[in-house]
Amino acid sequence: MDYSQFFSAALNRLHDERRYRVFADLERIAGRFPHAIWHSPKGQRSVVIWCSNDYLGMGQHPKVVGAMVETATRVGTGAGGTRNIAGTHHPLVQLEAELADLHGKEASLLFTSGYVSNQTGIATIAKLIPNCLILSDALNHNSMIEGIRQGGCERKVFRHSDLAHLEELLREAGPDRPKLIACESLYSMDGDVAPLEQICDLAERYGAMTYVDEVHAVGMYGPRGGGIAERDGVMHRIDVLEGTLAKAFGCLGGYIAAKAEIIDAVRSYAPGFIFTTALPPAICSAATAAIRHLKTSSWERERHQERAARLKAILNAAGLPVMSSDTHIVPLFVGDPEKCKRATDILLEEHGIYIQPINYPTVPKGTERLRITPSPYHDDGLMDGLAEALLQVWERLGLPLRKRSMAAE
Ligand SMILES: *Cc1c(COP(=O)(O)O)cnc(C)c1O
Repeated sequence: MDYSQFFSAALNRLHDERRYRVFADLERIAGRFPHAIWHSPKGQRSVVIWCSNDYLGMGQHPKVVGAMVETATRVGTGAGGTRNIAGTHHPLVQLEAELADLHGKEASLLFTSGYVSNQTGIATIAKLIPNCLILSDALNHNSMIEGIRQGGCERKVFRHSDLAHLEELLREAGPDRPKLIACESLYSMDGDVAPLEQICDLAERYGAMTYVDEVHAVGMYGPRGGGIAERDGVMHRIDVLEGTLAKAFGCLGGYIAAKAEIIDAVRSYAPGFIFTTALPPAICSAATAAIRHLKTSSWERERHQERAARLKAILNAAGLPVMSSDTHIVPLFVGDPEKCKRATDILLEEHGIYIQPINYPTVPKGTERLRITPSPYHDDGLMDGLAEALLQVWERLGLPLRKRSMAAE
């Protein structure tokens, strides 16, 4: 039997659909973010990264790097075991306390990644609630969808951030049935924000529990970086908040924060928590340093918002099709998978600008885009250079421009 044919056939399908992914081999330069070295097929090239989820550049912050090095030197590299078997180390315990405090919750629980926290967290919560009905936003991340699927309970999808549809489903379910509303606070492909306050109102009116993924908001919104829920004053009304340490906090790991008994139950029942080695101490110390820094420093958050606003303004003024976004995400509409890939290839090879194309299935077909994430460290010169390069690429690929105007969308 020729087994390799199955794999090559699968890969060919991706090539045919223009969905085959190519990874850029990058080497970030601490202290010079967003500058990096690209190990290209033709050798080393200097590039600027425009699509990193290290949104605030905390991955290179001296306090964060310093904490990682100091801890690794002092206690060694790995955790050495699962949480139950020798793996619960002090930096991890401190980090969980820091996260509970960040979200104003009684406790928090760390996982290997944000992905795992959603997958095993939601599945476990759903399994512990008899006859649970999950109401899931149509644009929820794959990690939430997988968690819901593994939870094995009934699931209904409500149209994206559509409160009337959510209410209809809540009403249909009746007051006695246990219900879990699962959504994100900030959707990272369009940059729109969920109406958390109204979702909490509905949850309270119909007796539902709430689970909110704040992955793209923690560190960046709210006076202490607690996320959109903190900014909107509804943190205490959400039952379970989920976040990552890998994006604005610049490290690795995921977590949930909630009431003590929810955390204790997930800790005791979640397979994706129990049967895996704990995060390394150095990562935990670094994440704690990032969280603590962002709890009191608002320079990064303010500069981040100012940079995103400026980039939107100059791309709009150039006539480039910036999609409307209420946040730090700057999506640029292309609407064609081939041109999207081609545009990013030209940007990288000829302009040293690295933006990964966003194609199906990450976004719906026909809405392919460039997703640009300016950080506090993308200065005016870099932005002007980006606008110039994009205009050249748009012309070369025959992509439409808008009428030039200063008006933001
Ligand atoms: C990135 C992401 C995750 C997963 O977080 P990781 O820490 O990268 O595993 C979860 N939810 C959403 C919405 C994400 O974009």
